[in-house]
Amino acid sequence: MELTYKCLICGYIYSCHGQCGNPPEKCPDCGAPKENFVEVEED
Ligand SMILES: [Zn+2]
Repeated sequence: MELTYKCLICGYIYSCHGQCGNPPEKCPDCGAPKENFVEVEED
């Protein structure tokens, strides 16, 4: 299982690889602030 964050605006997937507990400050793809990211758990 891996914790990732998904941008609700553009669908960008930010993968933490177990190294972080927070989404990026802003989406590197569309620039949306971190409030637009949701946690997604993947197997
Ligand atoms: Zn985005």
